[in-house]
Amino acid sequence: MIVLQCPYCDEQRTEEELTYGGEAGIARPGLSAPDTEWTDYLFMRTNPKGAHHELWCCTAGCGQWFLIARNTVTHEVSEIRRLDRPFDKPPPEDRTLANVGDPGAVDAAGALQGYRP
Ligand SMILES: [Zn+2]
Repeated sequence: MIVLQCPYCDEQRTEEELTYGGEAGIARPGLSAPDTEWTDYLFMRTNPKGAHHELWCCTAGCGQWFLIARNTVTHEVSEIRRLDRPFDKPPPEDRTLANVGDPGAVDAAGALQGYRP
């Protein structure tokens, strides 16, 4: 379960009280941008394994949107920011973790490899 501390109302919220808004830091194209650029903006996401910047909304609380830096493998949240204080740089390019196996791999007994809730 994901539990986040809202940077606006300063309350801890569980994921049932929050709304996931998708990948953060995607620049909106200009009105005259070609359709291919708009298609990328609307539909293409990185879906990384590892470090990821995301938008979340404090739906059951103050209703504000905020940013988090979360590892998509371990669900560790390393940073939470207000929208007016965005991340200085995108997540690291190397988004894999050396000490975690392929979380989707299944061994001969049917157990997930590298799975850590
Ligand atoms: Zn809040």
